Amino acid sequence: MFTEVDVMHEWGLMQEIIRIVSEEAYQNGMEEVTRIEVIVGEWSNVLPDALEIAFGCIRGELSGGPISKQTDLIVKSEPALARCRVCGCTFKPDYRLAFCPGCERPEADLISGETFRVDAFEGREINEN
Ligand SMILES: [Zn+2]
Repeated sequence: MFTEVDVMHEWGLMQEIIRIVSEEAYQNGMEEVTRIEVIVGEWSNVLPDALEIAFGCIRGELSGGPISKQTDLIVKSEPALARCRVCGCTFKPDYRLAFCPGCERPEADLISGETFRVDAFEGREINEN
């Protein structure tokens, strides 16, 4: 189960994604968007399931735009990854202030896992048959 707050957060993000993709689709002369791919980092505070639920609801209410019930949402997850500033080793951190498994110092930077963005989208152009 999702709390209302969680779903509201993803709902807002999804509306923003739809707005951005719709705008770009128009600029590219795209009549219909068939697929939207988003990258969701493990530590981005975005719940992929909630995002999909929000998309399912929102796309059903859209009309006249390039995004519709035929548009698929693909959520790609990005794992959290840290790199040690001391020895350069990369590892999967358990929490934000992670100790490096190589030299055991807490001086690692998060290098992946916080991303939340549209990666790509596909569609059909107006003149295409
Ligand atoms: Zn290290």
